[in-house]
Amino acid sequence: MIERKPGTPNPDGRYVLYWMQINRRLHFNYALEYAASRANELEKPLLILEAVRAEYPWGSERTHHFLLEGMAEHQHELARRGVTYYPFLEDQPGHGKGLLRLLAGKSCLVVSDEYPAYIIPEHNAAFAKQSQVPFYTVDSNGILPLNLTDKAPSSAFNFRRILQNNFVRFFSEPPVPDPLDNLKVATPAVIPTSALQTYPHAGWRLVDRNCFINRLPLDHNIGKLDIGGTRSAGLQRMKEFVHHELNYYAERRSHPDEDGTSRLSPWLHFGKISAHEVVSEVFERMPAGWSFRQLEDCKGKRNGFFRADESVEGFLDELITWRETGFHFCHHRPDYDQYEALPEWAKQTLHDHLPDERDYIYSYEELASAQTHDELWNAAQNQLRREGRIHNYMRMLWGKKVLEWTPDPQTALQYLIDLNNWYAIDGRDPNSYSGIFWIFGRFDRAWGPERPIFGKVRYMTSNSARNKVRLKSYLEKYQ
Ligand SMILES: Cc1cc2nc3c(=O)[nH]c(=O)nc-3n(C[C@H](O)[C@H](O)[C@H](O)COP(=O)(O)OP(=O)(O)OC[C@H]3O[C@@H](n4cnc5c(N)ncnc54)[C@H](O)[C@@H]3O)c2cc1C
Repeated sequence: MIERKPGTPNPDGRYVLYWMQINRRLHFNYALEYAASRANELEKPLLILEAVRAEYPWGSERTHHFLLEGMAEHQHELARRGVTYYPFLEDQPGHGKGLLRLLAGKSCLVVSDEYPAYIIPEHNAAFAKQSQVPFYTVDSNGILPLNLTDKAPSSAFNFRRILQNNFVRFFSEPPVPDPLDNLKVATPAVIPTSALQTYPHAGWRLVDRNCFINRLPLDHNIGKLDIGGTRSAGLQRMKEFVHHELNYYAERRSHPDEDGTSRLSPWLHFGKISAHEVVSEVFERMPAGWSFRQLEDCKGKRNGFFRADESVEGFLDELITWRETGFHFCHHRPDYDQYEALPEWAKQTLHDHLPDERDYIYSYEELASAQTHDELWNAAQNQLRREGRIHNYMRMLWGKKVLEWTPDPQTALQYLIDLNNWYAIDGRDPNSYSGIFWIFGRFDRAWGPERPIFGKVRYMTSNSARNKVRLKSYLEKYQ
């Protein structure tokens, strides 16, 4: 927990306010758990505020639908359980300004989500300055808390060692499954009338979502997905994957034709499901006698720590090591999205190869509309446009080619951030920056021999992809 605005709780406060910003779930959520415990301690009701602006960086119909689907689910669940929920949707940019301050003014204290990327660090810093009541942010992002590390990890290997040394300790203190289960004060929180008059309850907008979203200043070319922005959709996918598909993860994950990964990143990104519960679900399949408490340091080796088969080891390595390497990086490096934050060796080698001739140069618009000479690349971009995701292997190739086809690495970086964050439903995440900056050498090492344009940065070609992985049906599907 970070005490962003210290002080004693407002004695006249009507409720404890939980401002749900990014970990948009009612279960396995340390921040909500903390807010509920403070409400119990003060013997006050809890008020949950979940708000969405009309306009935000890379805001599209796609992200808005996902968010609102999740809010409609919360409205239903919280009404059933008698917990006061205030869903607010801006209908015009700026119309929500002042709502948080107004609600906080009538609260005992405010709790929100700690998160190291996108607009959340700015939100938290700005609110801490203006809040008249104590304000806390709580990290419910992963297994290892962000304040465990004292600097940005330089590689997944480096972070894996920290993980192996600390996993048992932190996994032994999971968030409670249902933080709303033991709320002492059962009476609803009284929302100030002035708030409801100026900032109407989302109401019908959560029901008639198409009608509402169509009128907003969002990118309407990036359309709704059919995967469902709810926690129940995320849980269903988690169970399908863990109990039926995980066995084949090692064998299938790199082959675009097999599509053998979990596809959980959208729900992880919006905090609909927690990494703790995914890991617990995986542990449930372990053989009798296996216990995570017996896990021991494995000297940072990729395989063996979980004493499981290659599929389980591989999946948990992505979900914990790779995912949290990026979170910890962003936490320690506010410049995580800047070219300058690349390792020195990578910047130097890319600089040395700046004069190299590029066989193809594409504009942002040509890339966005999948108009290149390379059918593999176009297929990946088409998948991104249609489904809001790219198969992981193709995502790496997709990024490497943009570096090759732009006048300089800075332009490539900007194009990749925009393409990824506009179209990907899991975009705008610390993982987005891990993946994109990995294209340019972050978390990687120098490779030889030196190649044109890439220098010592790892190189990938469409031809080698064709030889290495199965992608015939992928190409047919996304051409
Ligand atoms: C250029 C580029 C851009 C990327 N942009 C994003 C992004 O915007 N959002 C995003 O979540 N991931 C991003 N990634 C990482 C990775 O491609 C996705 O996390 C993964 O493909 C999501 O599919 P999945 O849920 O089926 O993964 P699975 O293989 O089932 O893995 C489970 C989870 O582990 C995490 N994970 C898996 N691979 C990685 C990885 N390489 N780095 C960090 N975490 C990982 C994700 O949370 C994922 O949901 C990017 C990678 C590249 C190369």
